[in-house]
Amino acid sequence: MKRTTLTAFVPFLFVLVSSAALPAQVRDADRKISGIVQEIAPELIAVRRDIHAHPELSTQETRTAALVADRFTALGLEVRTGIAGTGVLGILRGAKPGPVVGLRGDMDALPITEDTGLPFASTVRAVRGGIETGVMHACGHDIHTTVLMGVATVLSRLRNEIAGTVLFVAQPAEESVGGAARMIREGVFRDVKPAAMFSLHVDDSAPAGVIKYVPGYVMANVDSASFSILSQGGHAADPDACVDPIVVASQIVIALQVMVSRQIDVRDDTVITVGSFHAGTVSNIIPERADLKATIRTYGDDQRKIVREKIERTIANICEASGAKVTLEYAFGTPATYNDPALTADAVAVAERILGKANVVKDTPGMGGEDFSYFGREMPALMLFLGVQPKGATAKVHSPYFAADEDGIAVGVRVMTAVLLDKLDRLRAGSR
Ligand SMILES: [Zn+2]
Ligand SMILES: [Zn+2]
Repeated sequence: MKRTTLTAFVPFLFVLVSSAALPAQVRDADRKISGIVQEIAPELIAVRRDIHAHPELSTQETRTAALVADRFTALGLEVRTGIAGTGVLGILRGAKPGPVVGLRGDMDALPITEDTGLPFASTVRAVRGGIETGVMHACGHDIHTTVLMGVATVLSRLRNEIAGTVLFVAQPAEESVGGAARMIREGVFRDVKPAAMFSLHVDDSAPAGVIKYVPGYVMANVDSASFSILSQGGHAADPDACVDPIVVASQIVIALQVMVSRQIDVRDDTVITVGSFHAGTVSNIIPERADLKATIRTYGDDQRKIVREKIERTIANICEASGAKVTLEYAFGTPATYNDPALTADAVAVAERILGKANVVKDTPGMGGEDFSYFGREMPALMLFLGVQPKGATAKVHSPYFAADEDGIAVGVRVMTAVLLDKLDRLRAGSR
């Protein structure tokens, strides 16, 4: 995400843009939402700090899931637990029947040792891949889960005025990737399927009070290639007597970069990074193998296939020319996240109404990955970005120093509540 400089935000300031043009019931709903959020904000901050102090790694979100399920139950929602392991579904049925919309929040933390010095900093430790590590909500999923519970709280109080159903999806295992796809596979929408899904992700480069959005592709396909260049090995002083897998692999690393610059349309964003290269032991032996791993980032189903073909052809032909053998495993991972343009435009209008135009900022897409994309394959979906950057802070998500401005929580709850209600209205009216 690009850094954006914006004006400071005054929490709870009731901003209405051209309020005279708004229908009375919309003004009324905004005022009610704002009032409830103001009332529950301190409690939501306490909830967030509790979750932050008790982070859980992907697939192990039992405590967090229990907090969510207990909250949903207390609010009178229909609750299903144990979806994709620890996933929770809350179903809020309005007083009158109508269309269905959904909000997703992810619950998992990262294997990072927190170093923020905050009074509620995590001291939790765990073992991941045989290595002991700290555990930290360094990607803001504590905020996402809190916003999910906050929106459920506000809408449950407005239930009498809702014609339709709102689904609240607390998702496990986003960071390890797999939670979203598994929830869908295990029938999270078996009984009730939303016409649109929404989510938020914290943004570490915008202050609280700001929402960012990207229409269309917002995050990339995350694909991978693992390959090994194989030879018989030999004496380092006699390279012509064998195939040197280090030289062959080095040619491939460079060729893949040249391929991106010379064979891919510059408008089709593509990144190939060889992030792992292992070969050899000592200087006087030509090793018998080089093992490499690459990540490949693109947008769209067509582009990921085109790039795969080019990568496979490049690797195979360099090996052929060098007389090396090669084994290659190529995997399509999380698909690109696509923000439905109509859904984005409508949500942006709502956010502008609530926060003011200057605080709703169009951003550029990134090449990171997000498994919210799997929801977008089931129905139109939108992920918005919630400013939480504390004044003067520079730490990014996935850093041990990442801290969030908690004023963002109330902003997220206000905006997402209004966005969900707006979508229900539009679906009932038959527009979009
Ligand atoms: Zn993350
Ligand atoms: Zn995240």
